[in-house]
Amino acid sequence: MNRFASVIIDIAAEKLDRPFTYLIPPDLSDVLEEGMEVTVPFGAGNKERKAYVVALTDHCDYPLDRLKSILRINERSVGLEGRALELAVWMKKHYGGSLITSMQTVLPVKKKMKERRYRTILRLADPERLSEEIKKLNPMRFAARIRLYEALMTAEEIPEGMAKEKLGISASVFKTAEKDGLIRIEESRLYRAPKAAAGGKTDVSLSGEQQAVADDIREKLREGDRKPVLLCGITGSGKTEIYMELIADALKEGKQAVVLIPEISLTFQTLMRFYARFGDRVSVMHSRLSDGERYDQYERVRDGKLDIIIGARSALFMPFHRLGIIVIDEEHEGSYKNERMPKYHAREVAEHLAGRDDALLLLGSATPSVESYYRSQQGEYRLYKLKSRFGNAQLPSVHVVDLREELKNGNRSIFSEKLKQLLTERIVRGEQSMLFINRRGLAGFVSCRSCGYVAGCPHCSVSLTEHRDGLLHCHYCGHTEASPKVCPKCGSRYIGGFRAGTEQVEEELSKLYPSVRILRMDADTTKNKDDYDRILSAFADGEAEILVGTQMIVKGHDFPNVTLVGALAADLSLFSQDYHAAERTFQLLTQAAGRAGRGSKAGEVVIQTYRPEHYSVRLAALQDYEAFYEEEIGYRELADYPPVSHLMNLQFFSKTEGAGMKRAEKIAEGLRSLPEEERPEIMGPAEALIGKLKDVYRTGLYLRDRRRGVLDKARELAERLQEAESAEAGAAEVVLQFDPDPMNSF
Ligand code: ADP
Ligand code: ZN
Ligand code: ZN
Repeated sequence: MNRFASVIIDIAAEKLDRPFTYLIPPDLSDVLEEGMEVTVPFGAGNKERKAYVVALTDHCDYPLDRLKSILRINERSVGLEGRALELAVWMKKHYGGSLITSMQTVLPVKKKMKERRYRTILRLADPERLSEEIKKLNPMRFAARIRLYEALMTAEEIPEGMAKEKLGISASVFKTAEKDGLIRIEESRLYRAPKAAAGGKTDVSLSGEQQAVADDIREKLREGDRKPVLLCGITGSGKTEIYMELIADALKEGKQAVVLIPEISLTFQTLMRFYARFGDRVSVMHSRLSDGERYDQYERVRDGKLDIIIGARSALFMPFHRLGIIVIDEEHEGSYKNERMPKYHAREVAEHLAGRDDALLLLGSATPSVESYYRSQQGEYRLYKLKSRFGNAQLPSVHVVDLREELKNGNRSIFSEKLKQLLTERIVRGEQSMLFINRRGLAGFVSCRSCGYVAGCPHCSVSLTEHRDGLLHCHYCGHTEASPKVCPKCGSRYIGGFRAGTEQVEEELSKLYPSVRILRMDADTTKNKDDYDRILSAFADGEAEILVGTQMIVKGHDFPNVTLVGALAADLSLFSQDYHAAERTFQLLTQAAGRAGRGSKAGEVVIQTYRPEHYSVRLAALQDYEAFYEEEIGYRELADYPPVSHLMNLQFFSKTEGAGMKRAEKIAEGLRSLPEEERPEIMGPAEALIGKLKDVYRTGLYLRDRRRGVLDKARELAERLQEAESAEAGAAEVVLQFDPDPMNSF
């Protein structure tokens, strides 16, 4: 009989991050289980606190008379099941931080919610009638109605939430359609997945290339080989069809599936492909669902009423009991990394879950992360390639324009002659164009407009950034130097920070083409959660000839009428201050090229750059992933960056200037005392790339070693040192976070 329970108190404070022992009252001893949420008296005042049971035992080393009793089980809460608890413990071990924070991360739903009611749009009119209605409507004025009718031609039922969110349709549009007898709105208890219209593509036969890949994966599974699979196939090669085949296999065996898709690509079209094939045992999970909606999905997965969950990275934490396959589409995407503690990567969590539950992990991308491709080369993943687009759709032709030449020829505008010529052609032909600036990580690097020189760190092969003190800093090692007045390479005075933004591009465009309609999508125009969908829908509806934006416009959207994509300053992302710069640039340019000419019309791409000879630009133009990988991994080997080695970023935050730096130096000193064979390389501390954000000072310390285990040990020591330092009287408050194998500059 278990008489004692170890519980974790639900407070995200480090000193509470250890189990406390409580007595189990007799009336609970039969029902209390590990993972349950309970209420306990805590501290001197016996304040009631929420806690999680992490272990049940029948012995206790404490004096019994000092133990308190658990008060009750919190019936309204979802119990943290053993599996979730296991995952939380694993997470804490791999990413640091407190167990409570990990527990909160792996519990997608915290509270039982009241039953809620959902509205579903049911189609009443047949497709012919809808198509006639569409013809009658002026596309300029009734774009939303047209979108709704088009969606209803592929789907008989659409949840109202999805129509609002994914299609940007408002309540008044539903009312009109209802009055006209085209739809009916029904309320029910259940969240209903959209039901595909009859004639939806459910039974595709795979192409020879696709079939060979699917068959080989099946064969290996039959042999009991569950090594993760990396599927490298150009955009449009049919990766999604292969995912669906293998998901169908898993479902036949009574297993469940989870499909991760970057949130940005969770469009109506993508979701409909899954609904069309698998019907209403599919559902979605992402951050924009309400608590009630999340709870509903959670409950239905737990009760085995859903077979497939499609969603962003948190979909991994749904309570699957029979997980058979995990798919991660666009596995190279940065959004799979969690930005808050614990800073986990969905790929690593998925790998752990797949191993634990004996499921297949299937990663797919046209431009795999260097990390994953490296692992396939090491034999840890099995690599498959799809080399042709389905139906032999054409790849676009790519023009690389050297901006230094343009300057020499007296063209000071943002647009090269080639780009202007192709833009004009599109406008005349009534086709659409997309222009983007990739500004990622673009905080104050310094470059020469005449020769393309970029100020770089002599120690770290990353670019330097101009800081508030007017000096150039390296945020890895702390190196500083004076900002140059003339270019050290060519003597030009055209040296400085790059300033052009999307707004300026829009302005210049309307000067060039006064009558052309332009849509702009960037951080400024997408402040509300619907803005993003609204702008994309408007563009899809032909409400503008040109879409201007940051790199966000490039990802995962198909516009059949877009036949020109322009990267205005392709190498801007090359100057970003971390070792992923070339990889990001290559991925972005390759994905951008894939956006041009998705329909039946051939596409063209213009890449404007100061560095046409750089391998990431050159090989993106050739769409040659393997050649890119070879160059890139050579560089990572040489500079000892991940995936060849591992990096751990220790991030110090303080309200007081200098306190974070002082703490970082203390901890670096402590780490230097590790015995040599367990000591990673220690770089810094240095002021972070963003040295101050919202009045908080930021300091970074980097650890590097080829063995991840060494970094984890060092991290644990840093956590202990941090705890000791924080406890010291008079110590200014410094928060310490860990980012293993960081994806973003800090
Ligand atoms: P990817 O996921 O690699 O970008 P998709 O699976 O989206 O490629 O395929 C691109 C297009 O080709 C889609 O419209 C898809 O329906 C179609 N397609 C791919 N394979 C087949 C097939 N075997 N039969 C019919 N259509 C296919
Ligand atoms: Zn120069
Ligand atoms: Zn440096």
